[in-house]
Amino acid sequence: PVVTRFAPSPTGFLHIGGARTALFNWLYAKRHGGKMLLRIEDTDRERSTQAAVDAIIDGLSWLGLTWEGEPISQFQRAARHAEVARQLVAAGKAYYCYCTPDELNEMRETAKANGLPPRYDGRWRDRDPSEAPAGVKPSVRIKAPLNGETVIEDAVQGTVTFPNKDLDDFIILRSDGTPTYMHAVVVDDHDMGVTQIIRGDDHLTNTARQKIIYDALGWDMPKVAHIPLIHGPDGAKLSKRHGALGVEAYRAMGYLPVALRNYLVRLGWAHGDAEILSTDEMIALFDLEGIGRSPSRFDFGKLENLNGHYIRQTPDDELVDHVVALLDHIPEGAALKAKLDAGKKAQLAAAMPGLKERAKTLLELIDNAGFLFASRPLSPDDKAAALLDAAGKTALADLLPRLGALPDWSAAATEEVVRAYAAETGLKLGKVAQPLRAAATGRTTSPPIFDVLAVLGRDEALGRIGDALA
Ligand code: GLU
Repeated sequence: PVVTRFAPSPTGFLHIGGARTALFNWLYAKRHGGKMLLRIEDTDRERSTQAAVDAIIDGLSWLGLTWEGEPISQFQRAARHAEVARQLVAAGKAYYCYCTPDELNEMRETAKANGLPPRYDGRWRDRDPSEAPAGVKPSVRIKAPLNGETVIEDAVQGTVTFPNKDLDDFIILRSDGTPTYMHAVVVDDHDMGVTQIIRGDDHLTNTARQKIIYDALGWDMPKVAHIPLIHGPDGAKLSKRHGALGVEAYRAMGYLPVALRNYLVRLGWAHGDAEILSTDEMIALFDLEGIGRSPSRFDFGKLENLNGHYIRQTPDDELVDHVVALLDHIPEGAALKAKLDAGKKAQLAAAMPGLKERAKTLLELIDNAGFLFASRPLSPDDKAAALLDAAGKTALADLLPRLGALPDWSAAATEEVVRAYAAETGLKLGKVAQPLRAAATGRTTSPPIFDVLAVLGRDEALGRIGDALA
């Protein structure tokens, strides 16, 4: 059975690139009827925080990416990592190195002077531990092969070859007994039964070292796929100056999880020219062959358009739920939430058909729904105030009693009154509708004005028109 894993380091938010890695792992597992595991790589005690773990879990859950079982803490497995390192020593595949920091420094300096990368010279590789100096705590180093090549078959990168002369006897267990990252990953992936690794190609060179550990242990290495990193629109590695990096920021901007999933899957993976893919389609189609070899460029416009598409596709009552959930994640949310009683929720749902046509994000949608939350008398913005000039007010004053006399209050009924009035006076419909919109919403743009009047209800709508005349 296929087992994948997502293995984030909890040092900040869930990075958008990490989210894509998680998505690929999740899709691959789903596609093959397997499971994805979550491993928190928290061995760096200085930089790892519980807040970051929570943010990662929260971000994944929001995106709908589920993992099997409890998240696994790498740090808590330190004893197991040490045990495996000692097994390797016992089997003659690794050894204790008693070099002092000074000796190691000297080695580094010599390499540097010769223009070489820092490299351990293997001086304890074949030395008898009885020669160990007193008082030096040893580290454990792997016996890396001295000749030949380490070859990685990567589903994305193809065959990647590393000459073994470039790989030294690196440390797997530090002198304080803690495992190195390289070693911990191998032991964990093996113990977790991982069959397929999918991760960023910044880890590709680690893979050669990890392969050496697998070989020393006589374990099979999981299959690997290293995916190119995400770049910004300008082709440089994605960074803060390009825009938001954390998934939480995309949530707070009002992106729907379904839209972000669709956007992220297409960031580096393609199936023909399919752009819009439901999650079921993604699961049915996802494969490693479709992952490209060059970095993908983040396209904010494309993400917006996809989001607009999914907003229009989402049923109205579900959108209301999304809006309500988003209020917990935006600064002005608490104030809006306080106003959002059952009545307002019903109004929001009723206004949704008009609202969702013109919003690319939920934030924009909430902004466009502002007229629902405004209280009388409204404070029209400058452009709206300009529409409430003498001519505008004349029209409103004429309309007020006609609207007030309507037996039933519906979009069709108010529209009929306004059209009749425009025809009668020879005014263009817009000349009448615009001041009406300004009075009813305080803005110059809104969902269709007759829908707005209907949603507001007779008393509120007539009250607002009256306020504009006062
Ligand atoms: N913890 C690593 C990272 O966040 C991932 C390592 C791996 O997937 O093997 O980049």
